[in-house]
Amino acid sequence: VKTSLDKIIDRDLLIVGVSSNSKPFGFISKSSGKIEGFDIDVAKYVAKDLIGSDRKIKFVEVTPNTRIEAVTSEKVDMVIATMTVTPQRQYLVDFSAPYYIAGQTALVKEDSDINTFSDLKRRTTIVVLGTTAEQNIRRIIPTARIVGYKDYPSAFEAFKAGKGDAISTDDTIISGFLMDNKIGYRILKNRISQEPYAIAIKQQDDQQLKTELNIIVNRMKKDGTISALKRKWHIK
Ligand code: GLU
Repeated sequence: VKTSLDKIIDRDLLIVGVSSNSKPFGFISKSSGKIEGFDIDVAKYVAKDLIGSDRKIKFVEVTPNTRIEAVTSEKVDMVIATMTVTPQRQYLVDFSAPYYIAGQTALVKEDSDINTFSDLKRRTTIVVLGTTAEQNIRRIIPTARIVGYKDYPSAFEAFKAGKGDAISTDDTIISGFLMDNKIGYRILKNRISQEPYAIAIKQQDDQQLKTELNIIVNRMKKDGTISALKRKWHIK
């Protein structure tokens, strides 16, 4: 029987689901026109390890709403896309060990009277559908009004246009927005969750690919790769 690791090795190509609009994790570079970011570099490291070259990768765009299906239907070998490990998602896919830990926060306009998450009660918060941010706001602040968008560009556009009092997601993605929008916004100090990012793969009886990914992730942490990527992409 061919394992999922065998399939990747035989194909000699790694197919990875990534986000193309979650700066600085996965985004299209204005200068090169190519996809770049922290998650893209993680994918390259994995490809190099599994099949010997960081160029034998096909990137497939996924969103928080489509990425589980992309894994379960085998459209991609794995998803590396700011994806948080959660118990609900673990019913559907397997995860590697986490390679980064983010936290959920929110962004408001500079002159906003919102300072903490409890100020979001009865106000409108913009989220991306299918994210942990959406779930957490619904659970922690049940009286918050929520408006959901399918991806980050449309959510941030709506926020800029005043369609919500706040936008909530991971601090990493908010800091990416602030890299391009330097004035007029304020990030809340609180984090209402921990968001461990990991590589998602299809569930299988053999644990070969998962074991291999855990070895790779642990090595990336030990050999300084993760610290170097944090510096490269300007995130804590
Ligand atoms: N990390 C969070 C999640 O997995 C939000 C960011 C995202 O989905 O891209 O839902």
